[in-house]
Amino acid sequence: CGIVGYVGSQSALDVVLAGLKRLEYRGYDSAGVAVLADGGLATAKKAGKLANLEKALVEEVLPVGATGIGHTRWATHGGPTDANAHPHLDNAGRVAVVHNGIIENFAALRDELAERGHRLSSETDTETVAHLLAESFSACGDLTEAMRLVCLRLKGAFTLVAVHADRPDVVVGARRNSPLVVGVGEGESFLASDVAAFIDHTRTAIELGQDQVVELSGGGVRVIGFDGRPAEVRTYHVDWDASA
Ligand code: GLU
Repeated sequence: CGIVGYVGSQSALDVVLAGLKRLEYRGYDSAGVAVLADGGLATAKKAGKLANLEKALVEEVLPVGATGIGHTRWATHGGPTDANAHPHLDNAGRVAVVHNGIIENFAALRDELAERGHRLSSETDTETVAHLLAESFSACGDLTEAMRLVCLRLKGAFTLVAVHADRPDVVVGARRNSPLVVGVGEGESFLASDVAAFIDHTRTAIELGQDQVVELSGGGVRVIGFDGRPAEVRTYHVDWDASA
């Protein structure tokens, strides 16, 4: 339902949680975050309100990192439980994925992954993407290209945002029939399903086109199409009153 991603120099957890709060008005049934820190990936996710997640984060403090993603879920596949909340991980716990929308061919993908030895631990359509992305990254070594190749296998409507512990200063995103916006700051970038999530940090935005993959890194923002071609990136000014 709501998605936030961040790469920069602030605490990603703080930025992501504040962004998710900005998206609360859309409604949701669970929330979760993933932060890249100390060469690994740390996650927390809870059914219920963001306050539940924040309480869990007091009891189990995550390491501080400057790259992270977060999600508020509106369940479509699998009930609103902690296990079904996003982010979803691969079996090695190195990849984290958040998703808005529906992966229509998830059952076939899940069976195929199970045959290759993957163990899926949720009832969601989303989890298949984490496993596919981990495989694809292992094969090509490029997270953005891996995301592109995975998207070519998906049917349905989706906004996807993902991180990999082997690429500690990269967040990748992709979209088809579901919105994704980039916020461009100074030495930091944001991804969100809605500009409201980053309006406190920057008003320079890029609206991702249909069937595009975006990479945020220390080097800035790069966009390619699902066909692999570099896409033209046009920034615009968000002229919108955040207090409204
Ligand atoms: N289909 C996914 C799920 O049920 C994503 C739902 C959403 O858009 O929040 O977990």
